[in-house]
Amino acid sequence: MIDVAASTKQNLLDLDREGLECFFADTLGEKRFRAHQVMKWIHHRHVTDFDEMTDLGKALRAKLQQHAEVRVPQVQFEKPSADGTHKWLLAMDGSNAIETVYIPDKGRGTLCVSSQVGCALNCQFCSTATQGFNRNLSTAEIIGQVWVAARHLGNVPHKQRKLTNVVMMGMGEPLMNFDNVVRAMSVMRDDLGYGLANKRVTLSTAGLVPMIDKLGEVSDVSLAVSLHAPNDDLRTELVPLNKKYPIAELMESCVRYAQRKRGESVTFEYTLMKDVNDQPVHARELVRLMRDFDNRLQMKDAAKVNLIPFNPFPGTRFQRPEDAAIRRFQKLLNEAGRIAPVRRTRGDDIDAACGQLKGQVMDRTRRQAEFRKSLEARAANGGVDASP
Ligand code: SF4
Repeated sequence: MIDVAASTKQNLLDLDREGLECFFADTLGEKRFRAHQVMKWIHHRHVTDFDEMTDLGKALRAKLQQHAEVRVPQVQFEKPSADGTHKWLLAMDGSNAIETVYIPDKGRGTLCVSSQVGCALNCQFCSTATQGFNRNLSTAEIIGQVWVAARHLGNVPHKQRKLTNVVMMGMGEPLMNFDNVVRAMSVMRDDLGYGLANKRVTLSTAGLVPMIDKLGEVSDVSLAVSLHAPNDDLRTELVPLNKKYPIAELMESCVRYAQRKRGESVTFEYTLMKDVNDQPVHARELVRLMRDFDNRLQMKDAAKVNLIPFNPFPGTRFQRPEDAAIRRFQKLLNEAGRIAPVRRTRGDDIDAACGQLKGQVMDRTRRQAEFRKSLEARAANGGVDASP
């Protein structure tokens, strides 16, 4: 029942179906099914004002006004790209903002969603990493990104579906914000939410092994792993988290995840960087790694590879490989029987391509300052990178 002493309003975007049912039953003293009506108003019709929820009685609407709100992220600016990609900068609080990107393609529309303001990991080739880290996003701030895009697109789940896939691949490491991400993904997959099938929601991780296992226990979404290197020495250099969870451990956790999901594949993302990880020797190592994964699962193509040509951003020391080098790498994988699509660069005219998301991060890690210092040092050095 209502706690009259409580003064702060519950943001309903913070709750999944179960949480909302409890809120209606325990806090408002209402029937649980009322929660279903409200979910539809919010996620199917994009209505945030309780007075517009016309199938709710007047008394319930008044109760909701008093104790709840639907607070969606504020759009700071939005930018359409020439290729149909659309980017939003969403204000999260006074000083932070995150980016969300919609990428339409033949027969599908994918939304790339952020999970943190910045990122605490320090992948060397990632624009978000140069921004440092501020905080985890709440469930409302994560699902709010989907809400903003769905409203903009006029998406109607089950009918006029413009938003067909969500990838948790924006700013941040989603498994470091486990509970909020899992709750938000539950709304994405709920028929009363966005109605997406499990395999159309993908969580991408840099390889937090224990959390991959935990995810397998509570969720059935698709798993993608930011691999980027086929051996530990190189991967530790590019993805420092690899020092803690080396490739063998990471692959084993992916095997366990796929086994729980009874034969679903795992996608391995491989960002190709010129003269760093794009050589034939790397392609051959990658083939072996993927073959071992298939063998462990006794399934052809259990490991899928996505090749992503590096998207440069200001100040980075990495370069995109020549097209010929990308084709050579892909051919070596294809010749070994591995399908390895090269991801088309989308939205690069609005800095919305993979690895380019930056947002506005009030950095609490000093990494922005360090990155700026390294740029200054490089400029003083005549543009030559003196970093190891
Ligand atoms: S690649 Fe992902 S995990 Fe790595 S720093 Fe960037 S946002 Fe974080």
